Amino acid sequence: MDKKQNRITLETNSGEKKYIHNFSIDGCPLFSERLEEHLVAVSRGESPSTGRFCGFCFTPTGPESEVCAHCQSDFRLSKKTVEIVPLVITEILREQRKIEARFVNGFAYLGVLLAVLGGLAVVLGIPYLRDHLIPATIVYALILLVGVRIFAGVLGGYFGDNIGYSRARKKTVQSWEELKIAMRENLHG
Ligand SMILES: [Zn+2]
Repeated sequence: MDKKQNRITLETNSGEKKYIHNFSIDGCPLFSERLEEHLVAVSRGESPSTGRFCGFCFTPTGPESEVCAHCQSDFRLSKKTVEIVPLVITEILREQRKIEARFVNGFAYLGVLLAVLGGLAVVLGIPYLRDHLIPATIVYALILLVGVRIFAGVLGGYFGDNIGYSRARKKTVQSWEELKIAMRENLHG
């Protein structure tokens, strides 16, 4: 049960490529595709949590690599590699997924509501249907059937996904900035 919960909150149905694209825009190296894959695999129990990771962006890296393929940190200079991804990074990803899911679901529910109310308006707005219960029920059922799929799909899958992603990304960037400050303080303190 617990493991399943992790899986739901870590995985996404939106395009993973967005993350790489964002790195160049907002300067936050979380999350590389490989790091996401690693965290999801660990949460499923399919992969050991330890390995070799970039000390800056925590992207998994080969045993011989000297430069991070994702953020280009040079492991021989300032950024050393680490053996495990800090728990806080998993938490940031989980929070990101949670925000995304909240928006996708919220907008999907709004779509359902629109189909329910819209269908009602159509049935009540046509005098013939208003007076004939069985045809009205059939028409209403058809509107619900098609409307729910379309409205929930478009609102949740498109608007919810996009708005949720940008909100979630903002939160991730903010968490990353806080983390950088915390790591700096750790170094000096
Ligand atoms: Zn890196």
